[in-house]
Amino acid sequence: MAGTSTVPATSYVSRTSASAVLHIDVSAIVANYRLIGQQVAPAQAAAVVKADCYGLGAATICPALERAGCRHFFVAHLAEAQALRPLLSADSALYILNGLVPGAEEECAAAGTNGTGAAIIPVLNSPDQIDRWAAVASALTVGTSGRPLPAVLQIDSGMSRLGLQPHEIEDLLARPEPISGVDLRFIMSHFACADTPDAPSNQAQNDYFYRVAARFPALARSLDNSSGSFLPHHQHGDIVRPGIALYGGAVQVGQKTPMYAVARLTAKILQLRTIKSGTGVGYGLTYAAPEAETIIATIGVGYADGWPRALSNKGSAFINGIRVPIAGRVSMDSMTLDVTHVPAEHLHPGAPVELIGPHQSIDDVANDADTISYEILTQLSHRYWRVYEGAEEAGA
Ligand SMILES: *Cc1c(COP(=O)(O)O)cnc(C)c1O
Repeated sequence: MAGTSTVPATSYVSRTSASAVLHIDVSAIVANYRLIGQQVAPAQAAAVVKADCYGLGAATICPALERAGCRHFFVAHLAEAQALRPLLSADSALYILNGLVPGAEEECAAAGTNGTGAAIIPVLNSPDQIDRWAAVASALTVGTSGRPLPAVLQIDSGMSRLGLQPHEIEDLLARPEPISGVDLRFIMSHFACADTPDAPSNQAQNDYFYRVAARFPALARSLDNSSGSFLPHHQHGDIVRPGIALYGGAVQVGQKTPMYAVARLTAKILQLRTIKSGTGVGYGLTYAAPEAETIIATIGVGYADGWPRALSNKGSAFINGIRVPIAGRVSMDSMTLDVTHVPAEHLHPGAPVELIGPHQSIDDVANDADTISYEILTQLSHRYWRVYEGAEEAGA
């Protein structure tokens, strides 16, 4: 579209002016991919790369995963698939988990057939989506090469979110005509509680899924997400779909993750002040200086950068390995830390402050903020200067 720019304003970020640097270790992502591959063999590991690889940068990460042997990539939206398609080879496929948005069938079919790059394949989540995709497929088959359009079939095995319900599966098996014009690649479903290995629903979903899959014997099977790939005594089907494990998140609630850490976030001190005991800090003056000479450091990261406001007076940062509590409310573009106990040599404008790193994982931050590592990662700001490590050698 002439006159509109898709270049984000954040392209003005520079390493020196940015108030924090986000290091993304692409070789750790590739190592995590290989770990999962070993864990689930002989099943194949796909990669869930929706939401820009959980905020970490799909344009860099996807080609590295492809070099490491990954051929199945899952996104949520057609637009995400379109953006990634030219970066991947024709041997790879991008699957759209959210399925076919009504009215977007032709766009989806065209996106997958014009130009070069990976295939774009929708997940069909309802009878209505099957009918609409079959209609486009038959129109295309008549009009052109006669090659049926590809798709994946999702069934609801107990999460009540996306996929065919039991009676809809029976209808489909009784009247398979619509789907017969579609080139179905595999059948999939999704766990609700795989991060809690003891949850009884895991076994129920597992049993139901493989029972239904057996009625579609020609189709490969895909059930496991990251945590599913680590469930004990569990078959892994043909394709597993890890997301968070690739990016270094925990796979079981409350357990240390077996995966390599991927993201490091380092802010710098903007300003320091010494305040008297009882002096208030930040919006609402919710923090009162506890010591006669309390030292407050301000850093340029706030909730607009994805640092949860829920961490006000709750979360931490680290300076040279020393824990410094967040003092007062997290502001939009900054927050304040009580650095009274940090030796003076580490306290000066520009001094590094660890927000995510060896002393504080994404899961630690998430726990403090009462959320999950997925949300911490996907909110990471584009105001950070991003450094990709090991992107070239990764997967080679
Ligand atoms: C997001 C998603 C995944 C990946 O889940 P993780 O918990 O990040 O491994 C897999 N399958 C589906 C259907 C998803 O929506």
